[in-house]
Amino acid sequence: MTLAPCSIAIIGAGPAGCYLADALGRKLASARIDIFDRLPTPFGLVRGGVAPDHPGTKNIARQFERTLAKDGVRFLGNVDIGKDISVAEIKQAYDIVVLASGALVDRALDIPGDTLDHVYGSGAFVSWYNGIPDGRDLSPHLSGESVAIIGNGNVALDLARLLAKTADELATSDLCAHARDVFSAAAIRDIWLIGRRGPLDANFTTAELAEFGQLTRVHPIVDPAQLPLAVPTEMPDEQRKIAEKNLDLLRDYANRTPTAEKSIRLHFVFFAAPAAIHGSCGAETLELERTYIERGRIVLTGERWAIPANTVITAIGYRSREIPGLPFDAVRGTIGHEQGRVAPRVYTVGWCKRGPQGVVPANRADALAVAELILEDLNSGDRTITEPAKPGRLLIDALLTERKVQVVDFAGWQRINAAEIAAGTRAGRPREKLTRIDELIATAQVQS
Ligand code: NAP
Repeated sequence: MTLAPCSIAIIGAGPAGCYLADALGRKLASARIDIFDRLPTPFGLVRGGVAPDHPGTKNIARQFERTLAKDGVRFLGNVDIGKDISVAEIKQAYDIVVLASGALVDRALDIPGDTLDHVYGSGAFVSWYNGIPDGRDLSPHLSGESVAIIGNGNVALDLARLLAKTADELATSDLCAHARDVFSAAAIRDIWLIGRRGPLDANFTTAELAEFGQLTRVHPIVDPAQLPLAVPTEMPDEQRKIAEKNLDLLRDYANRTPTAEKSIRLHFVFFAAPAAIHGSCGAETLELERTYIERGRIVLTGERWAIPANTVITAIGYRSREIPGLPFDAVRGTIGHEQGRVAPRVYTVGWCKRGPQGVVPANRADALAVAELILEDLNSGDRTITEPAKPGRLLIDALLTERKVQVVDFAGWQRINAAEIAAGTRAGRPREKLTRIDELIATAQVQS
């Protein structure tokens, strides 16, 4: 059976959207794929989430650029689906619609004091230092001596590492200029990493955990009494290997003695659930409650104590943004779907489907699976060569023009990219990001 030329809209130009465009482009040679992003820039978390001092993780952007540059694929940045174009209009225009809009909203900590000043979600904080326009004006308070980071995942490690690094250690990063200024003026002496479970339950990857042993001014502190004697043999192999390496690192940290040049103490605190944040003019202390784990469940003991915390950052996961006109799973904080199918000819992929889990390449397998699903449905007989194709980009382009939306296309992104790299080269860094919507659009529109 021959398939008609197919118009496809992918909402979100992050890793999941780009991997999916690549997979669909290979499988449906005649497909016309439009990838929308609410930001003027593509690549989602690769630009806005990955730590600025981990440039290797961002190399995947080159592959995504090749995808966006392919015949039949268009990038439409600065178009907010649900606002500039409704979901009904997108469905009317395209044969296939795929939500790949990620998970950007911080999960709420939901304890007394969590709305005090100087309490931030990691999503907002990371957007701020990575120069995402929404987070640009956060201006976080870092002039106190003590910062508490809640959560035991890799985002918590990213935050602790960036706060602890010296300006020299950040010199080759693409940390934004406004964040460099705040970091270099910070007066931090103590960083507390708070896990409500034990050291073997932490979601730390070994390479990220190991970095703390190498940093110029960090003295990692671990209470040896919190470390188990061994990793349980019943743990699945893959998980056990990581847990053993992490346990070795934590033992090494527990044995270290402080030295004069190690001016920042990094406290790993396990079995501690956040109970309340106190302060009269913003956060001052974080109250914790001792826990133990019983058959995987967290049990609170009633034993409470407080640590100083002039700034509190939660790194406890994210939810997706609800898009008007689409089902939403309020419990999981994802688009509502059945194994990737949202509605007839509407699909979802990536973090807005799976929740905020997994590293960038994990989205590839997900994208391949969703591409297969789409092909399966297209081949199921109700969408053959005899069916007239939907208007696709013709309709959408007309609406965008009528509504005066300033679309940034792939050439516009290339101009932004070149300008950022040139500014970075002048400053001896990989790139100096443009962080305001109007600057990004103006740069995208400059004709050479
Ligand atoms: P994560 O790995 O799911 O960690 C979230 C942490 O928050 C967990 O320790 C969780 O504890 C804790 N938590 C959740 N709710 C809490 C609450 N109410 N109070 C206290 N603690 C709470 O998520 P993430 O760190 O945001 O990372 C997201 C994904 O991105 C992960 O797959 C991560 O590996 C990936 N990532 C990778 C890198 C890298 O490879 N370098 C860097 C950044 C992110 P429980 O276990 O008790 O729920």
